[in-house]
Amino acid sequence: MSDPARPDPVVHATAAIVSQGDEIVLGQTLDTNSRALAGRLMDLGIVPVEHVSLPDDEAAIAACFARLSSSVDLILCTGGLGPTADDLTRAALARAMGRPLVEDARSLERIRAWFAGRGREMPEINRVQAMLPEGAAAIDNDHGTAPGIAARLGRADVFCLPGPPAELRPMVERFVAPVLRPPAGRTVRTGVVHTIGLGESDLASRLKNSPRGDLMERTRMPLVGTTASGGVVSARVRYEGPEPAERAGAIVAGLVAHVRDLAGAYAFASEGAPHESLPAAVIEALRRRGETLVVAESCTAGLLGSMIGDVPGASVVFLGGVITYHNRLKVELAGVEAGVLEGSGGARPPGAVSGACAEAMASGARARCGAGWALSVTGIAGPGGAVEGKPVGTVYIGIAGPTGVIAGGVSSRRFAMGGDRRAVREWSARSALGMLWLALVGEPAARMLRQVDEVG
Ligand code: ATP
Ligand code: MG
Repeated sequence: MSDPARPDPVVHATAAIVSQGDEIVLGQTLDTNSRALAGRLMDLGIVPVEHVSLPDDEAAIAACFARLSSSVDLILCTGGLGPTADDLTRAALARAMGRPLVEDARSLERIRAWFAGRGREMPEINRVQAMLPEGAAAIDNDHGTAPGIAARLGRADVFCLPGPPAELRPMVERFVAPVLRPPAGRTVRTGVVHTIGLGESDLASRLKNSPRGDLMERTRMPLVGTTASGGVVSARVRYEGPEPAERAGAIVAGLVAHVRDLAGAYAFASEGAPHESLPAAVIEALRRRGETLVVAESCTAGLLGSMIGDVPGASVVFLGGVITYHNRLKVELAGVEAGVLEGSGGARPPGAVSGACAEAMASGARARCGAGWALSVTGIAGPGGAVEGKPVGTVYIGIAGPTGVIAGGVSSRRFAMGGDRRAVREWSARSALGMLWLALVGEPAARMLRQVDEVG
């Protein structure tokens, strides 16, 4: 990238992130770019102070650029660099700068070459992608046609970047991150501990009652906060201060290790990993033990297997399983005895939604599939299907494994999951993985969030 004219170089202490497009404002596309950019800025020690999402409206985008340019040092904008009439970033930036759009010869050449490399001639419509506000600089795009734009607007440096994440990411790493200037003497370092099975208030009280004092106190540095998502509760640690990077990293790592201790067996990961890492943590633990896993699913109908299958390398430990939605298949495929499902001799059977059925499914699947471990799920996802004593959200999860870990080789728990059908199914699949995690770390009886005692 040739450097844009920067008459008085700024330090990037504060940043705003602008995501662009009708589809984002209307909720049709999830704005993951802003999250990724904010995380990257934090790594660099630049604090995002505002996120804005804007529709395809040139005047609104220009007004937003103008407003932000007097309040932050850095504006990162994604989207709207395409060749079509709804791609307005270029024009909006030019308007905010009060400059005309001019054609950049080098960009035009690169766009032509991009098409030529694919055996095509550049459609005339793409020519507009070589246009830049006068005084701005193009940023090479090695993964698509739209060059990015670097410009100076008021006191802010502005970077307009392509919307597709696969184009955005490499452009940020190659051309943007290297030219950002975090304030000297301020370092930002973050860490996270993910837990399964603990409630958010549970984790918070462990943090509050730490032998080191109340870790969640808002005046402490590093700051510690908790977030919950889909059954995974996380503690986030953030240091922001004058320590050099290495020392700041050590401070955060030390606190992360302490938080992990406080969370005990419930902590399953402590990196920057997203919570999808629960199945990854389980698979890794099984791999280390050289053990295998199968599943028998009723109300989750494959969701648990799918979460496991999402993890690269799952095949080393995951053998597969059965979806036994109908009672007949619970008998034929998972080996559940008919008497568990249907009464015989006048006795009331435990039924398909019961601890007995969950245990039979788990031990049946484990034996029939020849695996070290089996997880089973059976329950009422709703909205219909509730029976007396078993409201919607009643779910039994079974686990079968080595008798040295699971007393008797199999056990089950009852849960009262909240939320709609989708939430019940997701919580159930994650809770099953949570039960296996606790068993693998030697706490097979640790109580889990939403676990309830069997009544009557
Ligand atoms: P293109 O040249 O492909 O048109 P663009 O820079 O104009 O790129 P947009 O048209 O705004 O970008 O978005 C293209 C695609 O990039 C979107 O359909 C969407 O899939 C993805 N995208 C855009 N913005 C975001 C965002 N904030 N978060 C996640 N994905 C995004
Ligand atoms: Mg576009």
